[in-house]
Amino acid sequence: MQLKEFKIKWGMVVDIDKCTGCGACMVSCQVENNIAPMTAEDPHNNLQSMTTKRDDPSNKLRTLTWLNVYELNNGEAFPNRDTAYLPRPCMQCGHPACVPVCPVVATEKNEEGGIVSQIYPRCIGCRYCMAACPYHARYFNWWDPLWPDGMDKTLSPDTSVRPRGVVEKCNFCHTRYLKAKDRAREEGIDPMELPEGYYVPACVEVCPTGAITFGDLNNPEHKVHELSKNPNSFRLLEKLGLAPQVYYMSKREWVRKQGDNHAAGDHNSAVKQASQGHE
Ligand code: SF4
Ligand code: SF4
Repeated sequence: MQLKEFKIKWGMVVDIDKCTGCGACMVSCQVENNIAPMTAEDPHNNLQSMTTKRDDPSNKLRTLTWLNVYELNNGEAFPNRDTAYLPRPCMQCGHPACVPVCPVVATEKNEEGGIVSQIYPRCIGCRYCMAACPYHARYFNWWDPLWPDGMDKTLSPDTSVRPRGVVEKCNFCHTRYLKAKDRAREEGIDPMELPEGYYVPACVEVCPTGAITFGDLNNPEHKVHELSKNPNSFRLLEKLGLAPQVYYMSKREWVRKQGDNHAAGDHNSAVKQASQGHE
């Protein structure tokens, strides 16, 4: 499939060697995007259950988080054990597997920045997109969202609350992008050439170790442009050819191998392919 190229390509480079797995990015994402704190025991009694245990993130029936932090390890026993953490938002793929399967065009690749959108009022809840996404980045609302008493007053006025029956996912905090463009117009800045840091998603802003760098992959003045070409950078499941706009980097080879999920012996070619440009 021909990759559509847009002038701006918003993307992330996550330095896995800096990520401590603290989960601040997940929390900030939920607050920013009005995601209810759903838990395993009883979604309609979540004030009580939210203080007990967090749900298994792979349980699609019970959990709703746009950004998940996964724990990786090198498979060795102590004292050679090594651990890493991998935050996984929507990859905003260049060839998004989720888009062509939607029968009602409720999700599409935005030509301003390449962010893959989700249009909630159009979604009929068929979940074809969830089945198509190899990164498990999409979530279905099995229930209407419910917040513990009083917490509903903290909801962000900028982001709509999704009803039961629709799919949702990370959109790089798109409302922040819209606001940044409005602010740029007021300040006489070209909204199509935002300076680095003018627009960043909530997870990037809150990360205490600065593990996530965000910017325009096409803009040489933005750090992500160079970082994405670093020999230690890679993309998840590179071989599927979905051309994610989220990159990872690690100096540890076992991390790169796991993230790339490649067959033994061909890691270098995958990394080389990734570093040759933003396919
Ligand atoms: S669940 Fe919604 S967005 Fe996904 S394919 Fe069906 S209609 Fe489209
Ligand atoms: S990560 Fe999944 S949901 Fe996001 S653009 Fe790619 S295929 Fe679509």
